[in-house]
Amino acid sequence: MDYINIFYVTAAVLFILGLKRLSHPRTARNGNLIAGIGMLIAIVATLVGYSGLDFRLIIIGMIIGGLVGGIFAIKVEMTAMPQMVAIFNGFGGGASALVGAAEFYTKAAPAALGGHPSFYALSTIVLSVFVGTLTFTGSFVAFGKLQGFISGKPIVFPGQKTLNAIIALLVVGFAIGTVLVPSNMMWYHIALIVLSALLGITLVIPIGGADMPVVISLLNSYSGIAAAAAGFVLLNNGLIISGALVGASGLILTNIMCKGMNRSLANVIFAAVGLEQEGASGAQKQMNIKSYSTEEAAMILDSAEKVIIVPGYGLAVAQAQHAVREVADFLESKGKQVLYAIHPVAGRMPGHMNVLLAEANVPYNQLKDLDEINPEFEDCDVAIVLGANDVVNPAARHDKSSPIYGMPILNVDKARTVLINKRTMNPGFAGIANELFGYDNSIMVFGDAKQTLQQLLKDLKEL
Ligand code: NDP
Repeated sequence: MDYINIFYVTAAVLFILGLKRLSHPRTARNGNLIAGIGMLIAIVATLVGYSGLDFRLIIIGMIIGGLVGGIFAIKVEMTAMPQMVAIFNGFGGGASALVGAAEFYTKAAPAALGGHPSFYALSTIVLSVFVGTLTFTGSFVAFGKLQGFISGKPIVFPGQKTLNAIIALLVVGFAIGTVLVPSNMMWYHIALIVLSALLGITLVIPIGGADMPVVISLLNSYSGIAAAAAGFVLLNNGLIISGALVGASGLILTNIMCKGMNRSLANVIFAAVGLEQEGASGAQKQMNIKSYSTEEAAMILDSAEKVIIVPGYGLAVAQAQHAVREVADFLESKGKQVLYAIHPVAGRMPGHMNVLLAEANVPYNQLKDLDEINPEFEDCDVAIVLGANDVVNPAARHDKSSPIYGMPILNVDKARTVLINKRTMNPGFAGIANELFGYDNSIMVFGDAKQTLQQLLKDLKEL
């Protein structure tokens, strides 16, 4: 069996190298491939190393799973990626729970009828079943919220936190009962599964749709913890290592996202942000909005020397990454300096804008992070805001009543002119008005980002 561990260590090294390379857009594809090869090695080593496996069922499972995963990965829109990750997390958690439950019914439970189930076996089974089941139901609620199957608004009711606390206490009680009371362990185990499933639902429904990507990242970490627990159940080092890596990286990502929004994890999970959104559009109606044509915008850009492009979620929706690159190339050919400002939570997932712009081969040295780009707005002639809203909302700096108060933003309002493109006056994901649109130095160019940029390029060329 020892040679299997050599393969598992090799796989683990490839996972870590893959993760390292995922941290930069230039190396990310290659990192994904390296981690994928690591997974292949781990799977083959496991299949070859264990005797008595029914390969027919395994091959059928691999074909069905591979097909479903492959088709989804190819077909899914970039903007729907968080939903897909949510489903995959859910399946990961569900798989770990099934492994735990299968071990319970085949090994631990029969022992309860007369034998001596080991404390170690039962406690690891309980952990993988609890975390796996909670991840499964929680992830599917998160998926439903993002996909619009369930209301994206927080679902809250009186006594909700008390109810969650009671369910959590019952879960702990039944988990202890399963481990320590052999005579009733079967019933305790069933109660544990039902209550863990319920807790996954009741913990996620009060969280607003805007915070769902953070929750998905957290559930991703849980699915790793469940997998590691299943690894301890099976005494499988490969599963323990890969589960621990997913658990740790999910937690790090959750932390990065919370920092980007200047919120604590507790605030994301318990504050029900997004509940009071009425009045957002009302506040915008009182602003002095200046609507410009692409032709007028082209004239302003023509006389600019330094231009900063600020991409947001709308750019991804419009798939305007190539169009923006073409406009930027043209401006550069006219001797203007062009930079891109990347906010850590612009779009709908971490690194969304980097991935999007990398697809259009925007040079990496033009992409500037928040801290690096903010001082640049002071001497910038035109900031072009493309489908970004919350990440440029100045209310985050001064309005203590705003749900995004304290979130670091891109200081586009410091530019001489702010050219904002979006389709309507509708708010962004946080559901709040943006006072930037009414500022003296702001002008709006309404329309779909791709069409607007294509028209803008034509107008620029005609000047
Ligand atoms: P926002 O969601 O604030 O705004 C996007 C804007 O794009 C909308 O106001 C919309 O206005 C506009 N838009 C939509 N479609 C188009 C189109 N086809 N053409 C032009 N404009 C369009 O996006 P931001 O990127 O500024 O902010 C991201 C938000 O997501 C933040 O609130 C952040 O906290 C949240 N979030 C992000 C996470 C991440 O990891 N990136 C994770 C968790 C939350 P209109 O409909 O009028 O066109």
